[in-house]
Amino acid sequence: MKIVGVRLAMLRVPLKTPFKTALRTVESVEDVVVMVDTDTGHVGFGEAPATAVITGDTHGSIIDAIRYYIAPPLVGMEVADLQRITRSVQSALEKNTSAKAAVEIAVHDLWGQLHGAPLYKLLGGGDPVVTTDITISVNAIETMVADSISAVDRGFGALKLKVGKDIAVDIERVKAIHAAVGGRALLRLDANQGWTAKQAVSALLALEDAGIPLDLVEQPVKARDIAGLRYVSERVQTPVMADESAYGPLEVLELIRRQAADIINIKLMKAGGISNALRMADIASLHGIECMMGCMLESSISVAAAVHLAVARSDTITRIDLDGPSLCTFNPVVGGVVFDESRISVPDDSGLGIRDVRGLEAITMPEACRGAGG
Ligand code: MG
Repeated sequence: MKIVGVRLAMLRVPLKTPFKTALRTVESVEDVVVMVDTDTGHVGFGEAPATAVITGDTHGSIIDAIRYYIAPPLVGMEVADLQRITRSVQSALEKNTSAKAAVEIAVHDLWGQLHGAPLYKLLGGGDPVVTTDITISVNAIETMVADSISAVDRGFGALKLKVGKDIAVDIERVKAIHAAVGGRALLRLDANQGWTAKQAVSALLALEDAGIPLDLVEQPVKARDIAGLRYVSERVQTPVMADESAYGPLEVLELIRRQAADIINIKLMKAGGISNALRMADIASLHGIECMMGCMLESSISVAAAVHLAVARSDTITRIDLDGPSLCTFNPVVGGVVFDESRISVPDDSGLGIRDVRGLEAITMPEACRGAGG
């Protein structure tokens, strides 16, 4: 199975409700979709969202990174040479982790199809059913309480509460949600870098003193503030999870060396794809650190890949935050992983199991990405 071309398209899916964090507000998933064509007629699918305020990647940068740097060297490569392909993707240019992730996902989809097995089985196997939490956007307290009650009623057993706006209101937000759903759902806080280290400690101690159990607090301080992350970790009982501070394997090593976090949030779009995400999980595993598998606002192409990876590393990836597809108004993907509210199940189809993606708008590609045949 030889790669003969790479195509790109835009995918737009409105969200059920706007997604609001301390960093941004988003109303629809608008992602770049990658299709890698082969001489056998098999197609591999990948996807990347633009998350400029997190990864620095925009639609324009993702598209250009793929069409001018990542895709041309892949044309003519054998899918069986997965290591050679991932090395080519990773060394094609600096940074641009979302573009690299999208292409790696598509190639791993093909690699699974080549071997006639679901990707997770080739990566290590595991129980093909996982349970995700759901994000509660940062809003007025009454809205967050109503959204939390609705999520628990829909069967979600873990809520990821977006905070990090105004510390006094954040404390009230969590207290009100705990009063409404406490005992029926695990509560996770994600401050998205919105607090200082001292604010984080005072907020978390206030919640701990109020007897509110938290499963974890995610990225309380700025991404580069590793000292601040450690400061918080040392002073609160609540486990501290690194997200924006934990981009790839090197950052995970550094966080562990400095004992700055208890949990690592792995995302394909930060890691630059499956090869580095596996390294992150394996480094964490070696040090007895648990991981969460997370995603950006993505549809069920790239989130499917994250599910396969989480299943294959379930000994280390003990928490799942893959709610992107359940926030979308419809699923554009035919086949593949089944997202049913909190329950996510992987069918036995080979690769990612994706048969088609509806509503794609093609993006023009240069000659170098089309190979000899296309
Ligand atoms: Mg986060």
